[in-house]
Order: sequence, then C-alpha cells, then structure tokens
Amino acid sequence: MQTFAFNRAASADQAIRLGAASQTAQQGAQVRFIAGGTTLTDLMKLGVEQPQQLVDINHLPLAEITAIDGGGLKVGALVRNSDFAENPRVKAEYRVLSEALLSGASAQLRNMATTGGNLLQRTRCTYFRDNHSPCNKREPGSGCAAIDGINRTLAIFGTSDHCIATNPSDMNVALTALEAWVHISGAKGERVVPIGEFFLLPGNTPERETVLQPGDLITHVSLPTPVAGSQSGYLKLRDRASYEFALASAAVVLQVEDGRVRHARVALGGVGTRPWRAEAAEQALIGAPASAATWQAAAEAAVRGATPQSHNGFKVELAKRCVAQALANVAQQA
Ligand code: SF4
Repeated sequence: MQTFAFNRAASADQAIRLGAASQTAQQGAQVRFIAGGTTLTDLMKLGVEQPQQLVDINHLPLAEITAIDGGGLKVGALVRNSDFAENPRVKAEYRVLSEALLSGASAQLRNMATTGGNLLQRTRCTYFRDNHSPCNKREPGSGCAAIDGINRTLAIFGTSDHCIATNPSDMNVALTALEAWVHISGAKGERVVPIGEFFLLPGNTPERETVLQPGDLITHVSLPTPVAGSQSGYLKLRDRASYEFALASAAVVLQVEDGRVRHARVALGGVGTRPWRAEAAEQALIGAPASAATWQAAAEAAVRGATPQSHNGFKVELAKRCVAQALANVAQQA
C-alpha cells in the first residue's frame, strides 16, 4: 500500500473543502472520504485505489435514522448497514431494504459498512481488482479484459464497448425500487438527486460511476412514504448462500387491491452496470390480475433487451426466474 496523509474532518464543511482538492471524480482521486472502509481499504491494499489523502468522516453527525415530517425516513450516510437493516421502521415499512441489507456481505462487514459507502461500492470485476490487467474503469483507455475474458458474473444490461462491470450492491437495488433520494453537500451547496439518476452508465467513461463531483459529500438518503397497502421484498440468487454477491436479484414493491396490481416497482441487481429499474416489468404488472401468469409476463418483460456476454447468457433465464419468484413471494405477504 502506498503512503497517504490522514485527516479527521471536524465538520462537513471541512470534509468538503479537503475533498474538493481532488482532481478527478472517480478512480485516481487524490482525496477519498473514509467511513467504514470496507471497500476502500481493500482496494488500497490491492493498489487499485491510491489516494494521497484520506479524510475520516466518522465523527460527523450523520449516523441517525429519523422520521421526516409528513412521512418517510431520513437515513444518515454514516448509519451502519446492520443498524439500517434492523431499524424497526425499516423492517416494518421498507422490508425490501432490510432484506437486501441483510443479504449483503457478512455480519462483521455490515457492522462497519455505511449507507454512504454502500452507495459507492465499486465493482467486483476480477480484472478491475487486478492491477496487471487492462481495465478502462481503473485506467481509462487501457482496454477491457473482461469483454473477451471471463465475464460470467458481469452485466447483461447497460453495458458498453468500454465496460461490462456490474454494480455489486444489494442496498442500491432496494433503494431503486423504493425511489429513494440521495442528498449531497458540495462546494456549490446542497442538492438532491433521485436514485435513478445517481448512477451513471459506463458509456465511454466507465471510471465515472455516479454524478458526484470532487468534494461532494453524501449526507443522507431519504425514503418516501410507502404506498398505502403495499408489500415489498428482496430475492437474491448467488453461488453460495451467504457472503456472496448476486448473480441476479430482484427488489419488488407491490400494491394489490381487489385481486389486481395497482402499484408496482421492480429493480434488478447483479445484472446491470447500475442498479437496474425494470420499467417494462412494472408496466406489465400495473392493472393486471395478481396471478402466476402475470408474474411470468412481468419477468419476461424484465429481461427484454438483455445483451449477455460470452459466459453469462444463463443470467437472462436466472433473472427472469428471480423476478417471477420475488413477485410471487411478495404477493403472498398481502
Ligand atoms: Fe474494467 Fe469494466 Fe472491463 Fe471489468 S468490465 S475489466 S471493470 S473496464
């Protein structure tokens, strides 16, 4: 690991000022904020991340979950994944989120990992984590070893000729289905970004993964009031039962009334270069009878337009079955 300076931020303003000294928005950033460190320190040990300075933000007052006047929840960026998952209101009103958080990593990692850090988890693409392989995300312009390499775990949605890496987070998939908002403080003030606009497609700049600019600090996430009478759930399919990333996952929010679907949100994980909202599946659901045939039709719609790689064609069928089963599971809760 390369040597680096370490500063503890006493205030959000100080953190933003220190962070704004970074020249680039993603890989190669000279300054990184550190909270739980569960991704960043790994990547620093591998030499993939080589910041000159870490800014410790653990002492900022961003570790609370509070009710929003008028409904919804405000979740601080430093809330640990374990606390987030076990919060009574999250368990009762945002079950999909609690399940997604608990399906990620191990108990030890969830005790350290934060909401803000989870939003910024970097891909598990093997070549990204290997400094000897060409990787446009790690080193722009060097090529992509995965496109003609081993790409079994990589994306079938949102890919480009420059990068096919998946977003690894479970939490991000649930936040997408819940239509959460990301609150950011930066050198130019505060702004709020819908989760659907927070993550960028790789295009020809895969090193840029989010809309964050140097110095931008995620302060919290807000969750809208759940749709009355809705149920939700998360289903994750993977090579082993725990401490593993998704091959395919589905976050589902459903409201069923008089035997028909009135409201539906579906997002996929493990298959997209960003958390993948399946709007075609939602359209197939809304107004349709709550039945196995509807779940199947929505699942077919969810995978339409997939572009599998040489080793991950199986993900199309896996994602389809995952969506159909997740819908059936959530409908049973009602
Ligand atoms: Fe790098 Fe993306 Fe290619 Fe993986 S898929 S090697 S992260 S450019």
